[in-house]
Amino acid sequence: MINVTKTFLPPQSEYQSLLESIWKSGWITNRGVLVRQLENKLSTYLNTEHVLATANGTLPIQIAIKALGLKGEIITTPFSYVATVSSIVWEGCNPIFVDIHPEYLTIDDTKIEEAITKNTTAILATHVYGNPCNVRAIEVIAKKHNLKVIYDAAHCFGVKYKQQSIFNYGDVSTCSFHATKVFHTGEGGAIFARDKDLFDQLFLHHNFGHFGKEDFLSIGINAKMSELQGAMGLAVLPYIDEIINGRKTVFEMYSQLLPQDILFKIREGTQWNYSYCPIILKSEKQLKIIVKKLSEEAIFPRRYFYPSLNKLSYLPHSVCKISEDISQRVLCLPLYPGLEFKYVEKIADIINKEL
Ligand SMILES: *Cc1c(COP(=O)(O)O)cnc(C)c1O
Repeated sequence: MINVTKTFLPPQSEYQSLLESIWKSGWITNRGVLVRQLENKLSTYLNTEHVLATANGTLPIQIAIKALGLKGEIITTPFSYVATVSSIVWEGCNPIFVDIHPEYLTIDDTKIEEAITKNTTAILATHVYGNPCNVRAIEVIAKKHNLKVIYDAAHCFGVKYKQQSIFNYGDVSTCSFHATKVFHTGEGGAIFARDKDLFDQLFLHHNFGHFGKEDFLSIGINAKMSELQGAMGLAVLPYIDEIINGRKTVFEMYSQLLPQDILFKIREGTQWNYSYCPIILKSEKQLKIIVKKLSEEAIFPRRYFYPSLNKLSYLPHSVCKISEDISQRVLCLPLYPGLEFKYVEKIADIINKEL
């Protein structure tokens, strides 16, 4: 069976020896040695100043909205995982959808300004599949209208844009370390902010608002990463370049075997992480035929991202033609280090026959 992804598991002995240190110290959560060590290593590897490890990649989005004191309307993308939008709603704000660029698949920055009202407080956009949004244009719009910018960078571990970590753009960036992502801690995530005061606020919010043992400086929630997750992160991190290169090898096989016009477009100036291999088919009908043919061979791609988030049942009616159209036709192909050429070839053959 070939699934859309396969979690990288480090050598068990390496994970085990990190666990031994937990057994020795008896310290299993609340910002122990391993989590802090992981944060330091991430900060060095990613070249980001402030990194906070968290329990998953969704809480950081909610914490960012809360810590920035956002209210009213938040402009966002309909083409992402549900967590981007559910976090906005969960925090009592209204998501205002701006359609996506038909090739980059990120929010169409040229349509943002017309969606801004007196109630708009922020832009929350996703670097979808690790493909950077037009961060420069968004920065200009945000400055002009006094808006905060949060990037859901869940897919972006290791991505650089214009020579620097993609996590360094916007007021806050969030990442997911879920088992299906490029770098993982089983469940986990991180939050990044360049401004030290803002980072301190995010930190308080992720730990109940605790300041010392008895003072509470803000409202907070529990988004702490545990030592068990920290240990997994420390065991996986030494392999990250191998993981990204392994993904690159497979992605390049696909891109040689499949027609270029069904692949998406990476923004110029990006050092990508090969996080996904989306293909954009002619129609949902064609997609369904391909999914069926692949499943007969025990190959299971995934419909990421479907449905277009403006269609969620708990949201008021809105229209995003491009996102709705693309989400009906986009399919993410199996992509993980070590996926053998013979399988990539088989997948490409099945697809090419139906195009
Ligand atoms: C995976 C993902 C999340 C959520 O991360 P979790 O770690 O699963 O909570 C948020 N946004 C996007 C775009 C994602 O793909």
